[in-house]
Amino acid sequence: MEDAAGFRGAVVKWFMAEGLDFPWRRTRDPYAVLVSEVMLQQTQIATVLGRGYYARFLDRFPDLPTLAAAGDEELLKAWEGLGYYRRARFLREAARAVMERHGGVFPSKPSEILALPGVGRYTAGAVASFAFGQAEPIVDGNIARVLMRLMDCEDPVDGRGMARAWEWAEVLVDPKHPREFNSGLMELGQRLCRPGVPDCLSCPVSRWCRTREPAGLPIKAKRHEVTEVAETLLFAERDGKVLLRQLGAGRREGMWRLPEREPSGPLLYQAKYGITRYRVTMAVHGSQKPVRAGDGEAWQELEKLKDLVIPPADRRALDELLGSSG
Ligand code: SF4
Repeated sequence: MEDAAGFRGAVVKWFMAEGLDFPWRRTRDPYAVLVSEVMLQQTQIATVLGRGYYARFLDRFPDLPTLAAAGDEELLKAWEGLGYYRRARFLREAARAVMERHGGVFPSKPSEILALPGVGRYTAGAVASFAFGQAEPIVDGNIARVLMRLMDCEDPVDGRGMARAWEWAEVLVDPKHPREFNSGLMELGQRLCRPGVPDCLSCPVSRWCRTREPAGLPIKAKRHEVTEVAETLLFAERDGKVLLRQLGAGRREGMWRLPEREPSGPLLYQAKYGITRYRVTMAVHGSQKPVRAGDGEAWQELEKLKDLVIPPADRRALDELLGSSG
């Protein structure tokens, strides 16, 4: 890119004047930055902030030692509603690794940050630049889109294009203001260089932008197909208790769901929900025969349901079924 210094200056100047104020932008604490980055990986800013997840998580686990010592139940409870629970476990693993490998002091070397469990190149760059002010690049979906358009690159962004985006981000990152530059590039993608038709008239870097057809970029390789899944669950309630099943090893380990059963009673509730690349049709039936708890299943008291970690789809089903049955 010609006049890379001018480009950096334009991004940084725009961010300083227009950048939004988020709590994770007010801190230099690498732990708090890591929490925000992991939370934002698959969850919208509006959800993380609007529903108070970030502040609540940091209230409950204010530092590395607290998180490293967290039990499964309280960890998943603090994460409930955010989905992708593996992220919470990785965060705790990362906290434990900092305690064990680095004596509780968060490492500032990018290679050491990258070596923490669950930390990929993006998150390592985010912590290095946002918390430690190091000139490390970051590329998320927003930055990739901006770079593809700036460079008029037609390589698929979910393939070769991403590698190119990293190369450009590495060359372009501002050595004097990496934090503002990285935040600025990301926010440009969120607010102006949006998917579909971008707002090029308001763009502070339009002078450097090579594409003439921004709405056609970035190009995506073939999408993953969505798989339809049907699940048949049982709703059984007796003596102020409801039968639930605790999930074993896997992404949602430790959470409680309605038990799976072949239908043997009326259909009580039906809903569709999406999870990763699955589209699930959930059908919950009652039973006309006496129900016994199977392996991993337990009768849970209704008043205690609020303390259990229950996936959102099952929580909605239970709210409706218990509301209507009570
Ligand atoms: S000029 Fe338009 S397409 Fe280019 S970076 Fe700015 S908003 Fe994106």
